[in-house]
Amino acid sequence: MLKVENVSKKYGDVLAVDNLSFQVNDGCIFGLLGLNGAGKTTTFRMILGLIDDYTGNITIDGEHINYTISDKLGFLTEERSLLTKLTVLEQIVYYGVLKSIPENKIEKKLDYWLEKFGISEYKNRKIKELSKGNQQKVQFISAIINEPKLLILDEPFSGLDPINVELFKSVILELKEKGTSIIFSSHRMEHVELFCEELVVLVKGKSVLQGKLSEIKKNYKKKNLIVKGDIDKNKILECDGVLKIEKVKDEYVISIKDESYVNKLFKLISKYDNIMKFSVEDPSLNEIFISIVGDKYEA
Ligand code: ATP
Repeated sequence: MLKVENVSKKYGDVLAVDNLSFQVNDGCIFGLLGLNGAGKTTTFRMILGLIDDYTGNITIDGEHINYTISDKLGFLTEERSLLTKLTVLEQIVYYGVLKSIPENKIEKKLDYWLEKFGISEYKNRKIKELSKGNQQKVQFISAIINEPKLLILDEPFSGLDPINVELFKSVILELKEKGTSIIFSSHRMEHVELFCEELVVLVKGKSVLQGKLSEIKKNYKKKNLIVKGDIDKNKILECDGVLKIEKVKDEYVISIKDESYVNKLFKLISKYDNIMKFSVEDPSLNEIFISIVGDKYEA
């Protein structure tokens, strides 16, 4: 289990991470979110032991980060960082040895993952000859070749086609099932929503929203009414409690201040003809993120 307790990090006068605390249990996927410059990379680097001049505590299974523990960490960086003149096998052996895996065991592990990712035929090809998506698969394999206890994934799907996104998702879920703790960072909220049970949102290094995704959604007061039918949009927009109305395909999404306005709106909307659908839904994580981060960002 990863525990981050009251961690702060300054670069000169810039407080990049401000009293941050969270924990990631074994077999959990945790979202670390924030706009550019929010402090995510700094947090990753502290967890990985690449930055050590911070205050607070970071432990994995009760131990501070040291060389033995860092052998059990994996990091898929947002910027791709492969040694492109090497072959896939040479690259993975290089990473594997850095992570203290006996050289004679690396190839067998590699074969498993190459097959999983459908790129076994590229094992002895130079990385620069591979397509971008296949290079990304190699980078992913290099992050997990040591069977990490904790895996940090920074924008793992960027640049992937939809088929490969599904493939990466299934591998991530396989690792989770095996008990790997995963920190997932992405600006794509629909991916975060799909994977993360818990999350923290950073603004200028500080946590502004934190907890279980289901609780965050439940506790978020604004709701959406989804209505299909012929309504007078302008009339509804004038009603008490209605914040905005958007048409998405053939449905209206009516954002309301809180659930107490549902009944009155239901009575009003049910008077219109051809109402095929009326439902109350929690807002998407994207809406919550924009409203919370937007408010705090301007403050
Ligand atoms: P992005 O999504 O753009 O990668 P981030 O959330 O990862 O951003 P960080 O890179 O951790 O954010 O940066 C947090 C803050 O610390 C920013 O204000 C950044 O300018 C500052 N910062 C980061 N690295 C350094 C550094 N080496 N020296 C000085 N300031 C830094």
